[in-house]
Amino acid sequence: MESGNKCRVKDRLVNQLIALNDKLNTLSPALLHSQQARTEVQERRESLYVELKRHRAKGHKGKPCPAAQHLP
Ligand SMILES: [Zn+2]
Repeated sequence: MESGNKCRVKDRLVNQLIALNDKLNTLSPALLHSQQARTEVQERRESLYVELKRHRAKGHKGKPCPAAQHLP
């Protein structure tokens, strides 16, 4: 039975991105140590975007992700 356009890998990556965005929102830009944490979170987010982009393009044995068109 076909499971439609679901993809667990894509879902996991998107959920991680959402979690990082939430974390960014909780960091106060007024605090110095938050600046450091913010930079780290942004770097992790950047690498997640790259991973997600690569998965969308050819993450399924060299083929595009079937769930790619449902990405936010
Ligand atoms: Zn996929």
